[in-house]
Amino acid sequence: MLHIKDLNVYYGNIQALKGVTLDIEEGEIVTLIGANGAGKSTLLKTLSGLIKPKKGSIEYLGKSIAGKPAQSIVKAGMSHVPEGRRVFSNMTVEENLELGAFLRKDKQEIQKNLQKVYEIFPRLFERKKQLAGTLSGGEQQMLAMGRAIMAKPKLLLLDEPSMGLAPIIVRTIFQVIQEINEEGTTVLLVEQNAHMALSIAHRGYVIETGKVVLSGSAQELQESDELKQAYLGGH
Ligand code: ATP
Repeated sequence: MLHIKDLNVYYGNIQALKGVTLDIEEGEIVTLIGANGAGKSTLLKTLSGLIKPKKGSIEYLGKSIAGKPAQSIVKAGMSHVPEGRRVFSNMTVEENLELGAFLRKDKQEIQKNLQKVYEIFPRLFERKKQLAGTLSGGEQQMLAMGRAIMAKPKLLLLDEPSMGLAPIIVRTIFQVIQEINEEGTTVLLVEQNAHMALSIAHRGYVIETGKVVLSGSAQELQESDELKQAYLGGH
């Protein structure tokens, strides 16, 4: 579904991605693990068209998308939930969710989808008329995910969905990711919480200072000594 080859990305003179090669097949949950500053968010931003790569190729559903505008990539069914839960603060919860579906024309399906999001996150239903800016951090994260679900993406890019959330909400979020995947959405999941990420992912890549240093099935990574020491707290 997604084939990234030799991707090089710079911020001015600083090289953030140094020849990243990575593949995602349809139906997978693939996780990207790495320390702060490794280049994870940069990779997601490059995929969704927010940053243009200097070199390398990105093939998505058989087409080259490297350097294409973000709108055309969204139209091709890729949704990005960025780090830091960006919601539209001055709009209500429901307006934010409806906005997620703005490219869709199937009105009845959209309504069904909205009900589904409310089923997944009852908290959003209770607060549907509340301004998004007044939600708690965890609620905003739910809303950002709900909005992405409303787009019915083929490929969902999630940037640290567990960041700053209480363990009980993290569990809900990870269950939701698994559910969305089972219903047909392919997922690229960036996480600092390697343990949780590997518990739901099929495969993973470890990225260090802009390079992929390790990749394999979730089980292989969970058993890897290298990963255990650096990212799984030695357990
Ligand atoms: P974290 O887990 O801390 O979010 P990350 O793996 O997502 O980290 P990136 O945000 O992709 O890391 O950053 C990769 C590198 O690029 C870092 O060294 C960062 O300082 C640098 N960088 C990111 N954004 C910019 C920018 N707008 N201008 C200059 N350098 C940047």
